[in-house]
Amino acid sequence: MRTIIFFIALIYPVLSVADAAEISVTKRSADAYILTPTYATNIGLFNTAKGVVLIDPMPGEGQLEALDTLVKSIFVKPVSYILNTHAHSDHSGGNGYFIAAGSEFIQSADAVAEIDMVTVKSHTANDVIFWHKPSNTIFVGDIYTTNWHPTFYAGGVAGFVAAVDAILNLGDESSLIVPGHGAPSDKQQLKLFRQNTLLWVAQVKVLSEQGLTAGEIKDNAEIQRILGKFNPEHKTDFIPQPAFERFIERTLTVIEKGV
Ligand SMILES: [Zn+2]
Repeated sequence: MRTIIFFIALIYPVLSVADAAEISVTKRSADAYILTPTYATNIGLFNTAKGVVLIDPMPGEGQLEALDTLVKSIFVKPVSYILNTHAHSDHSGGNGYFIAAGSEFIQSADAVAEIDMVTVKSHTANDVIFWHKPSNTIFVGDIYTTNWHPTFYAGGVAGFVAAVDAILNLGDESSLIVPGHGAPSDKQQLKLFRQNTLLWVAQVKVLSEQGLTAGEIKDNAEIQRILGKFNPEHKTDFIPQPAFERFIERTLTVIEKGV
């Protein structure tokens, strides 16, 4: 697998660095690519018998023109179909741009023989997992992230575990697992993420049963140690404090609901 950085410069009278959208291109096979705008959503690009399929185009000023140009430079034809792993705007916000250019948004990948799909409830009530079989690449949206804490708020623990099982049931040990955000990984890493997520929920539960508030749980050394497990790249600015506290509060909500 080869990753190269493309600088797509838009044609402006005066070009500055800010005008250039930087998109990382990872070639999985001749027909399968992962496109990643800097620090953003992983976008899937597949050449199929039905045409070019784009998964999760994200919005962004100048971003979409750059993405469009990049797609055409790779497959020398426009996007025929758009699929979304879920409806959040950082995954679907670019749909309109491509629809206006003639692409079709499809809810189901049934018509695309190369792609199998499974619908689950974890990050949102309607999370879709896409498996591009020829390249053995699985796009899982925000059920799984490798640069952020888990976000299992719609499905709770049971929904999250079922979603991870659904991913593990696709492909084989050499499948590439592409998270919604962060570096692509494999099934071993996904299993570790599941284990760490369950560890996190269990520890938040123990501390809340001891009467600790969300703010007090945030200061707990064990909780901070577990949070660090979701930061495999050891980023120094990993989770801002307000987001950390919100994660604890939302975990408490999931625990209270008992799912
Ligand atoms: Zn997302």
